[in-house]
Amino acid sequence: AVNDEGITNLVNVSVDAERTREPKSGRELLCVVRAVLKKIKRKVMVGDRVLVSGIDWTAGRGMVEDVFARKSQIIDPPVANVDHLLVLFAMDKPRLDPMTLSRFLVEAESTRINFTLVLNKVDLVPSKVAQMWEERLSCWGYKPIFCSAETHAGIDSLVPLLKDRTSVVVGPSGVGKSSLINSFRNEGSKESFLDERFTSFAANYVADKGLLHDNVVGASSFEKLLVSEVSQRSGRGRHTTRNVSLFHLPIAGGVLADTPGFSHPGLGKVTSGSLAQLFPEVVMKLANSESSGCAFANCLHVGEPNCIVGGDWDRYPHYLSLLEEVKKREEFE
Ligand code: GDP
Ligand code: ZN
Repeated sequence: AVNDEGITNLVNVSVDAERTREPKSGRELLCVVRAVLKKIKRKVMVGDRVLVSGIDWTAGRGMVEDVFARKSQIIDPPVANVDHLLVLFAMDKPRLDPMTLSRFLVEAESTRINFTLVLNKVDLVPSKVAQMWEERLSCWGYKPIFCSAETHAGIDSLVPLLKDRTSVVVGPSGVGKSSLINSFRNEGSKESFLDERFTSFAANYVADKGLLHDNVVGASSFEKLLVSEVSQRSGRGRHTTRNVSLFHLPIAGGVLADTPGFSHPGLGKVTSGSLAQLFPEVVMKLANSESSGCAFANCLHVGEPNCIVGGDWDRYPHYLSLLEEVKKREEFE
């Protein structure tokens, strides 16, 4: 029941491999998005789960009827239902800066998405340095995983963390995000990557029939699918914004975004009142205290009387600096 008038948006859709229990099929459909969804501004994103009707496997066509509620959503890169972030830093080149690391950790905490701290380029420093960081980070409340995208040391220990999840790699530029993503992408042969990739791009409303993939087979008429969108302008085939797609990890069994995420955390979701809660060592301190917290319920831990948090912790200067930044932003809001 495809309404011709509804065909303005084309989305490249592929079957959710897990749900259909055909992990290797990677069937893809070129779908139109139901006009009413656009009217109520329900945009379809990479990683969305959608209901598709009117599936014609021979023609490789379908229609997105509905977008399921998102568990999470990140905007850089735009991916829905991300349930794991790999916060990537390098041991050196660029130098591991504690303040920058704190900023990323705070941003990651503020997303409320599970994350793992990964320290790359472990091949560049003596093991003593890695050990020193391990101890320091343990005081912050984190247990990092060390790896090298170059020598592949420690990469295996990342595999279980990627299992059955949708992960995105985030971190500052130069730390090895692309190298790490590529080392996972090359996990299988190139051939199998193409087969097992189950989400790729859709067009920003391209009327380009060439997007149709030809590896479609028969199926029932109502299925839950994974969708994604491409940011390609119609006509010229010119990429105007960043593309992102998810690819299947044959060994780990999860899904990884092929595009790295935020490299300049804006702390957009952080408020001055909530900042301290994004430092695990503060949360632990408050949980372990005998009394029921600081004397003032709205204590910002900047020297108020009977403050339990105090200033005797490694990251206190980071906290103060981020607090100032967030307060400044709040003044303008
Ligand atoms: P991105 O900006 O975070 O995506 O970083 P890239 O993946 O582009 O890597 C930046 C540079 O670091 C490249 O020259 C990589 O070859 C190099 N690199 C990445 N991972 C490692 C590593 O584990 N060890 C070493 N020594 N170099 C690495
Ligand atoms: Zn306090």
